[in-house]
This record gives sequence, structure tokens and C-alpha cells, in this order.
Amino acid sequence: MGKSLVESKYLNTLLKCSYHQPDFIGTPHKLAWELDCPLCGGRKAKVVWMESRSTYKFLCPAERSKSHCGFAGELQVLLKVWNRPLWVQYLQEREAEGTAGAGHNCPKASQVAPTRRSSRRLSWRKSQVPNEPNSPADAPSGGEC
Ligand SMILES: [Zn+2]
Repeated sequence: MGKSLVESKYLNTLLKCSYHQPDFIGTPHKLAWELDCPLCGGRKAKVVWMESRSTYKFLCPAERSKSHCGFAGELQVLLKVWNRPLWVQYLQEREAEGTAGAGHNCPKASQVAPTRRSSRRLSWRKSQVPNEPNSPADAPSGGEC
């Protein structure tokens, strides 16, 4: 099974957002990098390719220090927590690539985040939520990275 190109692209985004230069710590058969955790900024978090799941798994080492958030999850889940607009974009690209939905490790964007006005009725309340800033409250501020 080939690797999703979208997967690599978003991995690169993640690596680029690391404050310290990520270190490649894997092998050609087991890709892995050490990087800063995008959620808490903790050092020596890891992202590892998991062949069986066809995705990367991210691990923030909570055992290293109290300031590490200890997040552990697949790339898709990390994106969702870290940067929701980016996550939605990721899902859309996976869907376009044909690697989302049933039988894949990632849902279709249309199933989780309707991007355009759906057929849902807008009756008594036209706009439920005025444009809310969409960043996680506890994330370090300052844009995408
Ligand atoms: Zn962390």
C-alpha cells in the first residue's frame, strides 16, 4: 500500500512548525522524527510512520517533564486538536485523493465539517455563531505555527 501524498505534505507542515530543527531518528523502513510538540512546545516529541495504519503517529512525551502535554495520536487527530482549519483542509485533500471515508483511517471532510451551506434549514436563527476565532484556547498564540 502506498503512502498518501497528503500525509507527507502535512507531516512536512508539522516539521516546519517545530521551533527547533527536527531530527530524523528513524530508518528507511521506520521513518521517525524528533520535533517540538506543536501543542505545548515541549521538546523531543516524536512523530513515527506506522505502516500498518498508513499514517504518522505523534507522541508528546509526558514522562519527560510536567510541562509536556502528553498528547498521543495519529497525524489526523493532532491536526484536529492543533489547527482545525488545517485539519479540515487535510480531510478535503484526503477525500480528493480518494483516501478518506469508509475503509480509511480518516473521515471525509463532508462528514465532519460542512464547508458550504448545507441543506440544513436555517429557520429562526440565521447565524448561530458569529465568526469565532478558531484557535484552541490553550495553544500558544501566533498564527498557524
Ligand atoms: Zn505536547
